[in-house]
Amino acid sequence: MGVGFNPTDMYAADHIRRVLQTFPGVFSGIGEFTIHKEFVSSKIAGETADLQNRALDRLLDFSAEVGLVVIIHNDMDVPFPKQGAPPAYLDQMKALLKRHPGTTIIWAHTGLGRIVRPIKDHAANLAVILSDPAFKNVYFDMSWAERMLRQERQHQRLMLTVVPRFRLVSELRRQMRHAFGPITLRPIQPE
Ligand SMILES: [Zn+2]
Repeated sequence: MGVGFNPTDMYAADHIRRVLQTFPGVFSGIGEFTIHKEFVSSKIAGETADLQNRALDRLLDFSAEVGLVVIIHNDMDVPFPKQGAPPAYLDQMKALLKRHPGTTIIWAHTGLGRIVRPIKDHAANLAVILSDPAFKNVYFDMSWAERMLRQERQHQRLMLTVVPRFRLVSELRRQMRHAFGPITLRPIQPE
């Protein structure tokens, strides 16, 4: 059973609604789908995936309406950033999360990737988001990220303060037996 959607497609929500009606009770979430991912996102056919794309807003509104959890893979920064430059996508991502307070959103890998490294004070930035009531709909998935963030002592201390919510997400991901992926329908797993 292959069910795909493109997050930049204005009709993605309609497509998902039809599938939900066809398979009631089967799906608890969508994703993980990619917005900015290292060198991958530019390869998505059609419109470029972007955090300010109206189709993405529509998809997140729809997810809130029907109670789907959304897993987004979006890098916090570009690979090999200029030293001292602000993280490329942090502010845009925060704006997106704030636009959708009713949508439960999991930020995959805390915005890290194979090549995308933690930003300066990465864990502290996560802690700021997790402690802000304006982001009470936001969770972080720790796959990939845990190993990278463990390396610094300050990170470790910060991680301890937020670890219950990280654990919750790991459990949530396990419980999400099925979710819409961008290409195929399959159980959620780190990618
Ligand atoms: Zn991923």
